[in-house]
Order: sequence, then C-alpha cells, then structure tokens
Amino acid sequence: TDVPTARYSVAVLPGDGIGQEVVPAAIEVVEAVASLHGFTVDFREYPWSCAYYQQHGVMMPSDGLALLARHDAILLGAVGDPSVPDHVSLWGLLVPIRRAFDQYVNLRPAVLLPGVRSPLRDTGAGIDILVVRENSEGEYSQVGGRMFPGTPHEAAVQQAVFSRRGTERVIEYAVEQARRRSGRLTSATKSNGIIHSMTFWDEVFRDVMDRHPDVSGRLVHVDALAARFVSHPHELDVVVGSNLFGDILTDIGAVVVGSMGMAPSANLNPERTAPSMFEPVHGSAPDIAGRGTANPVGQIWSAALMLEHLGEPEAGETVLGAVRRVLEDGEVRTPDLSGTATTRDMTDAVLGALRSVA
Ligand code: ATP
Ligand code: MG
Repeated sequence: TDVPTARYSVAVLPGDGIGQEVVPAAIEVVEAVASLHGFTVDFREYPWSCAYYQQHGVMMPSDGLALLARHDAILLGAVGDPSVPDHVSLWGLLVPIRRAFDQYVNLRPAVLLPGVRSPLRDTGAGIDILVVRENSEGEYSQVGGRMFPGTPHEAAVQQAVFSRRGTERVIEYAVEQARRRSGRLTSATKSNGIIHSMTFWDEVFRDVMDRHPDVSGRLVHVDALAARFVSHPHELDVVVGSNLFGDILTDIGAVVVGSMGMAPSANLNPERTAPSMFEPVHGSAPDIAGRGTANPVGQIWSAALMLEHLGEPEAGETVLGAVRRVLEDGEVRTPDLSGTATTRDMTDAVLGALRSVA
C-alpha cells in the first residue's frame, strides 16, 4: 500500500555574506535527513538581500510577502552589508516579514554542546537555556522623533509600545515551554528604572502566572539577569524578555555556549496562521565572508528547529544528534571553534554522522 509521503514547501533567503555559505549547507542536511525519514522538502530560493537592494533600490519586490506567504516555512541566512544602513536592511525585509506573518515569538535556545568550549571557567551542570523573546512590539518601534534639531536643545524621543495582548501572548508561550521543561520561568524586567512599560510587563506576567500555578515564575531585573547568564547559566531554564532585553540576553547566551556561529533561532507564528522563519542568531559576518570557513552549525540547527515546527520532530532530533556527534568527536572544527576545518568539511562531517545516528 502507498502511504502518501509528506511534502513541505520552504522559501529560502540566503541573503548576504556568510548566509550565502551556510544556507546551502543546511539545505544539503535537510535533504539528506528528509530522504532518511521519508518526506520531501521543496526549496524555492529568493535573492532578496542587500545585494538585491544595490540593484533594485528595494530589499524585496512589492509582491515579496505574498510570494513568501505561499510556503510552509522560511529559511533565512543573514541580511546585512557594510554599505547598506542597518535600518534599511532590517526594516526593508526582516521586520516586514516578522510583522506580516505575526511571528511574535523569537525562540533562541542557548545550549552548550559536548565537546564545545565555553569562554566561562565554570559552567556548572551545563548550559541549556531557552530564551523566548518578544518579536513584534516593545522597544523596537517606529514611534518617536527629533526635537529642536540643530539647536543646543536637540533631543531624541523613542517610544516603546507594550500592548496587553502582545505581552500576554508571548508570556503564555513561554509558560508552555517552561511546562515542557523544568517548570521554571524567569522574566526579564527593569521596573525599577523603566516605570511605565516595565511595571506593566510585570503586572501582565503576574496575571499570566496566576492562571498557571503549575509553573513557577520569577521576575529578575535585566542587568542582574545578564550577570546571571555569565555567573550562573546552569541555573537558568526558560527566560522570557521584551524585544530589546531578549535581543541582548540571547547574544550573551550565544557567546557563553561557545560561538556566535552555533546559535539557532526561530521566528514563530505559534498559531500557524502564516509561515514561521528560521535563521541563525549571527549576522552576515562580513569579516569572514567569502572564505568558506563560516561555521554552518547555527544555520543547520535553525533548519532542525524548522523541521520540528513543520511536524517532523524526529528528523530535527536526527540532525541535532549528528551535530552533537561531530562536535563530540572534535576532529572537524571551524576556526571559530579553534579548528581549521572549512564550511564544506563541517557539512560533510554532519552528513556522515547523519547516516550513523538515523
Ligand atoms: P550583521 O550586521 O549582519 O548582524 P555583524 O557584523 O553583527 O553582522 P555577526 O555576523 O552577527 O556580525 O557576528 C559577529 C562576529 O562573530 C562576526 O564578525 C564573525 O567573526 C563571528 N561569526 C558570526 N557568525 C559566525 C559563523 N557562522 N562562523 C564563524 N564565525 C562567526
Ligand atoms: Mg549583528
């Protein structure tokens, strides 16, 4: 009897810099694991990037979002180039995608894998933190402006926007994650200094926690929490934070687990009313682009999160198992992990390990 095999359609945006080098690696790995697990992924590539902007004056065409909406998921490399201002690349491509598709959760695991050296001297019982970052509002708003420009009284105003619905839904998502893990949730706040929006955040957090007595929640000021990421990372489990706080904490997380090149992320629409987007935490890394030495693990791991979201969690686990195997063996390492391997070598090693763990 013929069981119809699952088929997924994925939009691929390699973007700029090392995105062009690590995205093909992730595609090869997904194709290999798909054939091992018996499903099919159709990839469709779109060239939208800073390079595209140089030619067309826009980061993506006007029907770009409509084209992406047809896919089951989006796999993104990195977008950014020294010659294009960050606000152009960010607000011309990534922010419109995140907002149009209501990807209000930015999920960023920070896991220290066996065989990888953390810059911390003492990592206790290991590091396995899941940061849930609010991805649709908060501090990264377009509300604000300049006052008295060109005078000695010049000033800038930037408004942060926290809606009850926006705050509640991301905390609810974090509670669900905490429930699946240790049952502990830490919320980043700064209500001692930011007295309007952060006291509101705390109030919503307490309301949500009251509805979920099985999960224990605590509020920690973000400065102290940043210090804990370095001093006691093994004591943290699920951490929820606003757009800005989550952004900062996850860069710290990425570094304490060994390399920016390892950290994955998912921009999720948890209700699945539109495609979610998967991308490494790192950017285009112009300093090492073009050499073929970028670490592809952050991209490959992001693709594993994508497989899980698409409904192929076993395939995602297989990919992660292969990555673990390669890092544990320790023979093949890119320069960011103090080795001399190329992106190609590392990809081949993961492909080889896939066959043995599947
Ligand atoms: P962008 O502006 O696109 O965010 P960036 O200048 O902030 O880029 P990142 O790409 O975020 O830089 O990374 C910071 C540094 O970490 C890079 O300059 C690079 O040296 C290193 N790095 C990042 N990703 C990788 C990777 N996949 N492999 C090896 N090194 C990496
Ligand atoms: Mg960056």
